[in-house]
Amino acid sequence: MSKIKPVRGMNDLLPDEVKAWVYAEKKIKKVFSAYGYQEIRFPIIERTDLFVRSNEAADIVTKQMYSFEDKGGESISLRPEGTAGCVRAAIDNDLLRTDNPKLWYSGPMFRYERPQKGRSRQFIQFSAEVFGIRSAEIDAELILLTARLWKELGLEKSIRLEINNIGDNEARKSYVKSLRSYFKTHQSDLDDDSVRKLKDNPLRILDSKSPAIKKILTGAPEIEEFISQDSKDEFSKLTTMLDNNGIDFLINSKLVRGLDYYNQTVFEWKSDVLGSQDTVCGGGRYDNLVEELGGRPCPAIGFSIGMERLILSLKSTSFEESNIRNIDFYFICLAENSIEKAIMYSESIRDKFPSATIKINMGMESAGSQFKKADKSGASFALILGEEELETNTLSLKDLRSKSKQENLTDVDLDKRLKEIYK
Ligand code: ATP
Ligand code: MG
Repeated sequence: MSKIKPVRGMNDLLPDEVKAWVYAEKKIKKVFSAYGYQEIRFPIIERTDLFVRSNEAADIVTKQMYSFEDKGGESISLRPEGTAGCVRAAIDNDLLRTDNPKLWYSGPMFRYERPQKGRSRQFIQFSAEVFGIRSAEIDAELILLTARLWKELGLEKSIRLEINNIGDNEARKSYVKSLRSYFKTHQSDLDDDSVRKLKDNPLRILDSKSPAIKKILTGAPEIEEFISQDSKDEFSKLTTMLDNNGIDFLINSKLVRGLDYYNQTVFEWKSDVLGSQDTVCGGGRYDNLVEELGGRPCPAIGFSIGMERLILSLKSTSFEESNIRNIDFYFICLAENSIEKAIMYSESIRDKFPSATIKINMGMESAGSQFKKADKSGASFALILGEEELETNTLSLKDLRSKSKQENLTDVDLDKRLKEIYK
């Protein structure tokens, strides 16, 4: 039979790689809870309508969504992003009436786009959303949370913050109108993608990566001319707070973000080490979405971290293999009845030292091959059971990470050594 290939753009994460993920996830969860965020879990499939209503003109809905009819003929979609589902769950379960819910979630998102470095069709996001507050203070706190995350992960030197204020709906409407007429005067120089965006959502042309379009953009009207004094005041309050808390940032007046529902504050953290897919984390305010999805008016702000990109930047900067815990003991079994005995030893060690991690080699290979595997496994120690040990009712222990000699231990000795190791 021929081998079955994975679906394009869907990647496997192998155990060695997962170690880095677990390391990062632990740190992220710690920081989320340090700011009072609580985890929420909701389905990866929703009614298609939910995403269409929340992001009608966004590429993720018009071009990238995995939508299917289920057996009952209903159109359902794999979530392309989490905010819509989180808001749906918060409304549906009446969470928004409590004291400013601060929620976080993580899991796979699905977008049918061209796979490349930092871009796959299934990818993992870690996200946070806070509801019920509309102020520069909460925006600042959310950004401070992300800054703390990079510090915890040792990424603070390779990651930069860009922020912008895209105003309220009114401001954006006038801005879009003015952009449209500007781009119309340059229509013959626009590429196909920009022509399409000009029709659907001209704001999206602003973050085009094409050099030709970037050139046209230098003469384009700026959002600043359209936003209200209130928005400007809020924005300057936010930037002052970031300054006061020692956060460097760049105001990027062309930063608009890809989702339709954003208003006012938007931000992105970009990494220096990723090449062209360099946005590790993006977020912004979405004060109208809750109402659009059938809830009572409720302001909100949130962000998402693209974990694949975070791990890539972690690996090319600060990540140390020593941060990762390997197994403690690799059990080498050399004689006929060794494996059975090793299982009993291991059970008793796990009983007494619940944090102990032990892997038993059950392959009955040569001593050389088993020692090689023990070393490669990253284990701190090898436990050895050969003929001699079985006869004398003992067990041998070798520290794999120092040059010390192999020790032969009775049960009492072993207990003593384990107490030293796990003190
Ligand atoms: P991009 O400009 O990279 O397409 P986006 O504007 O589509 O990003 P969001 O929808 O705001 O991004 O998602 C937040 C983060 O999720 C991104 O900054 C990125 O790190 C990550 N992300 C988005 N799409 C993908 C993908 N296809 N593969 C891997 N990570 C992704
Ligand atoms: Mg995108």
